[in-house]
Amino acid sequence: MKIICIGRNYGEHARELGNAIPDEPVVFLKPSSALIPVDGPITLPAFSKDIHHEIELVYHIERSADGKATASHVTIGLDLTARDVQQALKSKGLPWEKAKAFDGSAYVAKQHISVAELENGNDLEFRLERNGKIVQHGNAKEMIFDLKTLMVHVERYMALLPGDLLFTGTPAGVGPLAPGDRLVGYLMDKPFFDLEVEG
Ligand code: ZN
Repeated sequence: MKIICIGRNYGEHARELGNAIPDEPVVFLKPSSALIPVDGPITLPAFSKDIHHEIELVYHIERSADGKATASHVTIGLDLTARDVQQALKSKGLPWEKAKAFDGSAYVAKQHISVAELENGNDLEFRLERNGKIVQHGNAKEMIFDLKTLMVHVERYMALLPGDLLFTGTPAGVGPLAPGDRLVGYLMDKPFFDLEVEG
């Protein structure tokens, strides 16, 4: 399986990092070794002093009856980012893997919602609380490129296969993690994960 991630898909988040609003989706990958166990913990790697939380809607890719890739389930996850490393790579025009694809950089909640059962798949509210305080909140309808557009775009370049995970970008409010932090993620007002951060 592979983890496909979309960058800069919420206007406010692009602006908070000083990035332009993209005219086509920004796509990058994480390997399967990036996944954090469902019960955590989040472990901060030694090579960075600035690991940021990015909460995102995450879609499970399956194959539909007609053989096409489809997003079967949706949940929330974390695209953990070594912001200091990413800034250094960006300034040199280098790829982002060291900042985005390291072991323990991807979390996906165990619970998920069937996309087919959603009344309105474009109205999915989610938020992240760090130590009891809301730090990020977003809604699928705020995405610059919606799910369908993202899937069509990605498939121009690479096949979406059963078991793949699609991270769809983070809203504004990203920030650094510290040892001892507690992160609780909510989808449609229900807690979907509750994780500890270790040093
Ligand atoms: Zn992200």
